[in-house]
Amino acid sequence: MLDTQPAVHATGAKIIDGRQHAKRLREELRIEAASFQAKFGVPPKLTVILVGDDAASRLYVSNKSKACADVGIESLVIVLPASTELESLLEVIEEQNRDASVHGVLVQLPLPRHLPVHAVLERIAVEKDVDGFHLYNVGSLALGTAVFPPCTPYGVQKLLEAEGIPIAGQNVVVVGASNIVGKPTAMMLMQRDATVCICHAKTRDLAQFTILADILVVAAGRPNIIVPQMVKTGAVVIDVGINRLPNGKIVGDVDFEGVSQKASYITPVPGGVGPMTVTMLLANTITAAKRMRESQSPHLSVPSTGTSPSTSSAD
Ligand code: NAD
Repeated sequence: MLDTQPAVHATGAKIIDGRQHAKRLREELRIEAASFQAKFGVPPKLTVILVGDDAASRLYVSNKSKACADVGIESLVIVLPASTELESLLEVIEEQNRDASVHGVLVQLPLPRHLPVHAVLERIAVEKDVDGFHLYNVGSLALGTAVFPPCTPYGVQKLLEAEGIPIAGQNVVVVGASNIVGKPTAMMLMQRDATVCICHAKTRDLAQFTILADILVVAAGRPNIIVPQMVKTGAVVIDVGINRLPNGKIVGDVDFEGVSQKASYITPVPGGVGPMTVTMLLANTITAAKRMRESQSPHLSVPSTGTSPSTSSAD
């Protein structure tokens, strides 16, 4: 429980309380959603499309709906059978793209194996792509002009900012190079003038890199991959990993007890980055709603939908 967790670890590291930061941000978002509703007579609206009946995905979708309701965003969940063919899914996405009352469209990942992820993600209208996974938005992120930063990296950045942790000029090491966490986190922090190194499963001698980090972001999905000897004294350690141990306990990728003794700041799991991820989805949805309503045309200066669907597979 949040209330039983000390704000400062017994041995020194300050624990970054993601639940508290998410709560404060949601209060701001609630005000923004209310003022949008007052101005335009409709609430910001998010459509979440879930294909199949994966239990974890159902839980994530339900959490997203609850979070929307919490701040005054309307949400619509469309559940399709696992056997849905690509063309039918694309038609459902197109309907949501065309619906002017919908400001954000999200397809819950992972998709059933027969569906090509990029072909699906690239069909979402870029101005409604609140997960930021469309190629256009990935490209914008690379150029430093992202409108919809991917939610988990965005949450990491917000946590660092909220704690007043400087980013410019810092050595950042990101462990994990996925398209949804590692790569965009590295890109966003590089954009904030950090010197960034990305490590992954093929990195030889991970410790030689992690020990140099002023800010260490870990997103590998491997419990205890980071132990104290791999961390510089005084480093800021952001643990993105979520792992369920055989005994049912949820842990991150970092040896929390050990590393807390060397770090200056550390995020717990649960209660660190996790609560920020959904909150940043809410922020992106409100951004999408405002941009659509406040521009002359619902289609901004970017293409409204993907052009030719790609057949490449996701990371
Ligand atoms: P992924 O499996 O797509 O990617 C994992 C990355 O870690 C890969 O680049 C891989 O090369 C690297 N990796 C794996 N083993 C490694 C090792 N031994 N040394 C160095 N690098 C290694 O995973 P993902 O989707 O990026 O998620 C990573 C973790 O973050 C998972 O635990 C996931 O559950 C969690 N996650 C948390 C949130 C959140 O909101 N907190 C959001 C998304 C993902």
